[in-house]
Amino acid sequence: DRRLSRIASTIRVIHDFPKPGIKFQDITTLLLDPEAFRHTIDMFVERYKDKKISVVAGVEARGFIFGPPISLAIGAKFVPLRKPKKLPGEVIAEEYSLEYGTGIMEMHVGAVHPGERALVIDDLVATGGTLAAAIRLLERVGAEVVECACVIELPELKGRERLNGKPVFVLIEAD
Ligand code: IMP
Repeated sequence: DRRLSRIASTIRVIHDFPKPGIKFQDITTLLLDPEAFRHTIDMFVERYKDKKISVVAGVEARGFIFGPPISLAIGAKFVPLRKPKKLPGEVIAEEYSLEYGTGIMEMHVGAVHPGERALVIDDLVATGGTLAAAIRLLERVGAEVVECACVIELPELKGRERLNGKPVFVLIEAD
């Protein structure tokens, strides 16, 4: 697909951010190219428009950029999965491991109902810990996670193996 090469060409790699030795995949430069941004959304919409998805759950922060245009286009609701103490209502929380220490992800109680079909969106899958926490939140309230979708995968980190066989769809593999 020629759209994939356009998308890939817009992702900027920043070395030694946020720490020495890290090659950070920066999607803000994709957003500067409206054609690449449009292609990114279109490719996800084409994949999910006929899959009876009722909820798109976006992971803070960059899942909040890609999730809402996809949810609007496929006629699903959007649910933010947030860092702790950001959501004002009653929440459920999941802890997950980060490179150093742990993170917590929260979702509003009542946002997602049993039996709903969910899609989880983030910009990038690395170790898979973040997506795994998102899946646990949705499954705890009885939703079915149909798939996770990210713009970029770092395949060397084998994040897929942490998702109990849950499929991850990605547009671009980075090294
Ligand atoms: P994981 O939990 O190890 O899979 O890390 C994925 C999470 O870290 C996602 O929410 C990403 O936004 C973030 N992340 C990790 N590495 C990068 C990167 O190189 N660019 C952008 N986000 C990253």
